[in-house]
Amino acid sequence: MKALTNVNATSFAEAASAAQSARQQGQAVAFSAGGTDLLQQIKDGTDNADVIINLRTIGDGRSIGSDGAGIAIGGLVTLTELSQDPLVLSGLSALAQAADSVGTPQIRNVATLAGNVTQRPWCWYYRNGFNCFKAGGNECFSVNGENGQHAIFGGGPSYIVHPSDVAPALVAFDAVFQVTGPNGDREVSAEDFFVLPITNPERENSLTENELLTGVRIPTVSSSTVSTYHKIMDREAWTHAEVGVAAVIQRDGNQVQNAKVVLAGVAPIPWRVQAVEEFLAGQQIGEAVAREAGEIGLQGAQPLSNNAHKLPMISAAIERAILNLAAG
Ligand SMILES: Cc1cc2nc3c(=O)[nH]c(=O)nc-3n(C[C@H](O)[C@H](O)[C@H](O)COP(=O)(O)OP(=O)(O)OC[C@H]3O[C@@H](n4cnc5c(N)ncnc54)[C@H](O)[C@@H]3O)c2cc1C
Repeated sequence: MKALTNVNATSFAEAASAAQSARQQGQAVAFSAGGTDLLQQIKDGTDNADVIINLRTIGDGRSIGSDGAGIAIGGLVTLTELSQDPLVLSGLSALAQAADSVGTPQIRNVATLAGNVTQRPWCWYYRNGFNCFKAGGNECFSVNGENGQHAIFGGGPSYIVHPSDVAPALVAFDAVFQVTGPNGDREVSAEDFFVLPITNPERENSLTENELLTGVRIPTVSSSTVSTYHKIMDREAWTHAEVGVAAVIQRDGNQVQNAKVVLAGVAPIPWRVQAVEEFLAGQQIGEAVAREAGEIGLQGAQPLSNNAHKLPMISAAIERAILNLAAG
């Protein structure tokens, strides 16, 4: 068995600098938060780390708080904490519901916000040792292979789907992601954090090699804003979304003032359906409007040979999410 060096970081800055030093010495490095994805990757051989930088020894990044301008959530907050926090439950229902929908209670008790949004794809080719784009190769085996769980929007050259349930909710709430690296701190919008394979087929986000996600900030949501996360799975529990939808709607009575609608499980990034958002603005929420929004959500869909079954799921998920947000 390969020997691994463990480094217990005491701050995000120290973790970034330890990663940089190890890489300068030619070592492969991985950050470990909850470890629920990373340790499986090491076992599967999809991550060949020589050095694991343990983030659980960091004291910061574990709180959720409001400072008047919004809600700041530390990157090391667990998904259980996120789903049960009173501030999140009261103003950010879609985020609480998305966190609560992830995997199993055991996973949610250790998996972190940062680890969830930076988890690697669960495509069976990538996880089973195929030399695909995600593994540094130059082919996506799903195109002519088993693609029942792959992308319908935004695919090419890789057709993975982004695996996080939490990420679409963060995009829908216009979250700002906070990043630390050897050159200091920076902020990036949730929407710009995730990158399509056409930009970089090997990675799912804009973090550079030694950078870490330290937390997110969600701008204050108005008291007339309501939100929900609706997830459809291929079994009752404990798995990723076939299709998910995070919907955040500001409404006056039942009239939509503006809407953010972001899909999970259908694209290599959390997928905003702007045509649905534009259609909803000014509409009265009701069955016909919700149904039409679900149909509009399919605009631009390009199913592969075996994933067209997701199309009615997308329409149904959007329709259900919008009806969930009707006043009363
Ligand atoms: C049976 C099962 C079911 C699952 N179902 C779902 C599901 O329904 N929905 C869903 O969303 N997910 C699901 N997952 C995935 C699970 O949610 C992730 O494994 C978990 O969220 C990762 O969080 P973590 O803190 O354990 O990350 P880790 O395993 O520690 O890290 C994951 C990746 O992120 C990197 N990383 C970690 N922290 C940082 C950071 N701060 N900055 C930069 N990079 C970092 C690591 O290097 C690693 O590559 C499931 C997993 C399993 C095993």
